[in-house]
Amino acid sequence: MAVKVRFAPSPTGYLHIGNARTALINWLFAKRAGGGFLLRLDDTDVERSTAAYAEGIRDDLAWLGLTWDDEKSQIARLSRYAEVGEALAASGRLYACYETPEELEYKRRRQRAKGLPPIYDREGLSLAAADRARLEAEGRRPHWRFRLEHQETAWNDLVRGPQSYHGAHLSDPVVRRADGSWLYMLPSVIDDADFAITHVLRGEDHVTNTAVQIQMFQALGAAVPVFGHVPLITGPGGEGMSKREGAQAVRDFRAEGVEPAPMLAMLASLGTAEAPDPEADLAALVDRFDIHHFGRSQPQFDPAELTAVNARHLHALPFSAAKARLAEIGLGDAGQDFWLAVRANLVRFADAHIWWKVIREPLVPLIEDAEVAAAAARALPPEPWDETTWAALADAVKAATGKKGRALFHPLRLALTGRENGPELKVLLPMIGRERALARLSGRTA
Ligand code: GLU
Repeated sequence: MAVKVRFAPSPTGYLHIGNARTALINWLFAKRAGGGFLLRLDDTDVERSTAAYAEGIRDDLAWLGLTWDDEKSQIARLSRYAEVGEALAASGRLYACYETPEELEYKRRRQRAKGLPPIYDREGLSLAAADRARLEAEGRRPHWRFRLEHQETAWNDLVRGPQSYHGAHLSDPVVRRADGSWLYMLPSVIDDADFAITHVLRGEDHVTNTAVQIQMFQALGAAVPVFGHVPLITGPGGEGMSKREGAQAVRDFRAEGVEPAPMLAMLASLGTAEAPDPEADLAALVDRFDIHHFGRSQPQFDPAELTAVNARHLHALPFSAAKARLAEIGLGDAGQDFWLAVRANLVRFADAHIWWKVIREPLVPLIEDAEVAAAAARALPPEPWDETTWAALADAVKAATGKKGRALFHPLRLALTGRENGPELKVLLPMIGRERALARLSGRTA
């Protein structure tokens, strides 16, 4: 049987980091098994779902390189859900309930007062046809619950190992509201069955749903997929991600200059014993992927670590991979020598602009030591220059002024680049060129 997984975000917001991780785990799992990856938009909440968020999710997935073989939208499948709902009602697995939210709350309060768990008492199940007719005549519209079998539901979770829940310890879930709209639980199962999903990999906030959903698959006579629930990520202090301040969405990190590869490497390693590999591409992540590498403890996601992994990624990025990105940010003329000279100084890719300007655009030189600058101006050899030019120049200035170490190098760097730090001058100087270097050492904007 061919492996098929799905990633099922609700387009009620942009792709956040936790969801991106779920998408990645599913995608790697599918690719590793040579299987398919479905993007399913859980858009039945018409109040909160928007086409713009759906487009944003697609855009972020594409940016990450997580391509999908097929896309489905739940809102397009309402008639299918109604059809299955009717069949389940006819076979007695869905039943009508008429309590108002206030009545349900009152029941739960009484149960709690008696020290009982707030499990639905199945009043709807015991209503006779005449009771229902009377309630409907009062103007009440039913909502629908799924009748759980009061038996043990067990599965072997790919991450958590053997799991089991007894149906008697769970409330029959509401699957359809009085206004006819569907809650998440049953449509998800109908989709997974109809689209032949073989593996459901998601966050552990869905573990109890799984016991219910397995019973739904069985009620539909459908094959039950294999389930795996990964622990949810937390912020750096162990706080829930929703409590975190600051960037949460993939696009926030994009805007801050994070590249897709380090984000993927970080997300793939979270919750495993592996350190993120800043040089890994998607193919490497597929090769290394094993769902059994994910542990049971909640991994912490630290944005500062992502920034660091991003920088390490840039520092090792070969020119062949940087070339197109340089062109994207308007540095299409930059060659391999430039890239290799500056990459170790980048925190964000766009910082390459800083060094491009240093070699190609006029800047105001900082003359900290006029004697050193003047000596360097006099000692500049004729071009062509190469990586040996800098050492020869520094030696000549040292001989002329008697200065060495920081007293020699700091004023030269400030005069030539206008900055305290940066790439090695032996690689920068030939790119700056004689004319510009001479002007800057002479204190002129060039
Ligand atoms: N839309 C659901 C969610 O984002 C999907 C859950 C699932 O994967 O079944 O939580």
